[in-house]
Amino acid sequence: MQQRKVTIIGSGPAGYTAGIYTARADLKPLIFEGYQPGGQLTITTEVENYPGFPQGINGPDLMNAMRAQTEKFGAEIMQESVNEVDFSRKPFYIKGDETEVESDTVIIATGASTRWLNIPSEKKLMGYGISACATCDGFFYRDKKVLVIGGGDSAMEEATFLTKFASQVKVVHRREELRASKIMQDKAFNNPKIDFIWNSTIEEYLGEPGKGLTGVKLRNLKTGEITKEKCDGVFLAIGHTPNTSIFKGKIEMDGEGYIIIKPGTTHTSIPGVFAAGDVHDKRYKQAVTAAGSGCMAAIDAEKYLEANG
Ligand code: NAP
Repeated sequence: MQQRKVTIIGSGPAGYTAGIYTARADLKPLIFEGYQPGGQLTITTEVENYPGFPQGINGPDLMNAMRAQTEKFGAEIMQESVNEVDFSRKPFYIKGDETEVESDTVIIATGASTRWLNIPSEKKLMGYGISACATCDGFFYRDKKVLVIGGGDSAMEEATFLTKFASQVKVVHRREELRASKIMQDKAFNNPKIDFIWNSTIEEYLGEPGKGLTGVKLRNLKTGEITKEKCDGVFLAIGHTPNTSIFKGKIEMDGEGYIIIKPGTTHTSIPGVFAAGDVHDKRYKQAVTAAGSGCMAAIDAEKYLEANG
């Protein structure tokens, strides 16, 4: 059993920034990196809005740099996921795939994961034409026809990226107004390869595993009309769900599973347990806000340790 002052669960911008700050404060943090080291930015394309990179930077490059900076100051990174926590005892107990830790403070920075439509035909065809990562799978759709589902920045980014490969990209959105920022909307509207299907959602995926996706049935949410749309691939970009299942019943969360924090801080309902990044933030969800909140959690943890001897 390892003994730590600070244990960080998660390795996106929030987790790594908390790592940099607590390591520089000589608290020798342990970071559980989880199944997707680097978090969501490792499956994104160019990041153009992280300050300090006027030419933009690749998501994976940004995360590798943050990881290296964390290690430089002495944080220990475990390539493990956390399976169990006990916040009812002190020090807190954290169980990874192999490592068990007793820790005076915990910073939860487990982020959020892609949301799926969860209709029966989706599971059957996952990996056979249904994806949630254009950066990962876009290459397979050269000269093919693809749909992107969603109306946010992710959907616009995915659609724009996919035009590098696909012959045609149609964005299917459940309303007739996009949620995406103006600049991302304009990029998509001005791209001759991108069309839009409004007020619609996928009713059913068509195709067979092995043979792949051949199309979808779309429902028009205004008229109820069902139409068939031929396509070779569907990319989902309909938002995210917080990765909080292991904390259920152990810490206060809202109805959607986001950890509740005391406004203006990273304090959770358990003194000594802090939350940073997308795991509590359903409003801003930016790399830079996650990093900022990781810094806040580190400072909150440091203050808590000082106050509690
Ligand atoms: P988001 O902003 O929450 O948008 C999700 C979209 O999916 C919305 O248009 C939503 O429709 C739609 N949707 C949700 N559930 C659905 C369902 N069950 N069926 C059909 N459609 C559904 O998520 P996001 O686009 O992933 O963006 C998350 C955050 O990351 C945002 O803050 C965004 O600004 C940021 N981001 C930034 C960049 C960038 O600047 N480069 C790139 C990607 C993401 P409604 O609009 O009707 O709710």
